[in-house]
Amino acid sequence: MTKVLKIDPLNPDEESLKEAVKLLREGEVIVFPTETVYGIGADAYNEEACRKIFEIKGRPSDNPLIVHIGSLSQLKEIADNYEPYMDFLEKFWPGPLTVIFPKKSKKISPVVTAGLPTVAVRMPAHPVAQKLIEMFGHPIAAPSANLSGRPSATNAKHVVEDFMGRVKMILDAGNAPFGLESTIIDLSKDHPVLLRPGPVEVEKLKEIFPELVVPDFVRSGKFSGKPLAPGMKYRHYAPSKPLILVENLEKMEGILRKYPNHIVICVEERKDLYRKKIVVGSLKKPYSIAQNMFAALREAEKTEKEYIIVEGVEERGILFAVMNRLRKAASEIVR
Ligand code: AMP
Ligand code: MG
Repeated sequence: MTKVLKIDPLNPDEESLKEAVKLLREGEVIVFPTETVYGIGADAYNEEACRKIFEIKGRPSDNPLIVHIGSLSQLKEIADNYEPYMDFLEKFWPGPLTVIFPKKSKKISPVVTAGLPTVAVRMPAHPVAQKLIEMFGHPIAAPSANLSGRPSATNAKHVVEDFMGRVKMILDAGNAPFGLESTIIDLSKDHPVLLRPGPVEVEKLKEIFPELVVPDFVRSGKFSGKPLAPGMKYRHYAPSKPLILVENLEKMEGILRKYPNHIVICVEERKDLYRKKIVVGSLKKPYSIAQNMFAALREAEKTEKEYIIVEGVEERGILFAVMNRLRKAASEIVR
């Protein structure tokens, strides 16, 4: 049985959170909102509970989880070598930024980190997530609340689609504000490395870390060889129908003809060019595109159309992150 509880995103009701905390203490798995996407969480210090997350998601065991913390004292419990980066962390936390540090604590099981010597940590800014962690008193390990390989869940309806009957509780606080997963930066190596672009833009990170390495796989979305970040060898974010990503818009007409039974995901500025379409947002408000993209993918797969054609966008700011997700989700990329 899954209990779906509506909860105010700004002033979360304590009684609902108490129920959620009770379940976490019992080693259960619950779904809660964050400012990026919904998370499926368990007690980060309970190995068996964390194992359940992998089972429920169908997540490969070599794809580690992000540990969500509520305070810097919790960072001290689980990570090492973070001291030189305190100013940086204080600037972006709480917020949509995940940082990889050497793992310190034996409290964090190898199940959570997929056996790595490092741990991914984030301090979320969503009031529900913050209050939940605070009341629980431990960090919560939580990846995105979608079946492995599917588009991330940005509202409770998406979570219900993937997990109804499989988790004890879903806290429904409406749409996730960013609608896109956190930026991940690895600070455990000699040089800072960007592992996943997200709402904290690369341009901003480069102001702080001019030496930031942005590996090819982050740009291309496709990966071959030895994974730098475990999990990146898998297909991600993919809807249940073929997704054709058209980066070269001059080739759009040909693609529309090649796949006549299609629905197009496009931006406001170009919507008049298509008949069957979902408008994802406006180029004037790039964050709106990020916010709605996963919802648009899930909506598109529910139509009777056979192919999902998505317009590519310029890889700047937040749209760099959007393109990273689309390239991973795509079954075909038209350049
Ligand atoms: P998700 O929460 O579903 O967005 O997935 C978490 C992401 O964090 C995955 O892409 C992992 O590869 C990444 N991640 C978690 N822990 C580590 C780690 N210790 N080193 C590198 N990447 C990590
Ligand atoms: Mg995910």
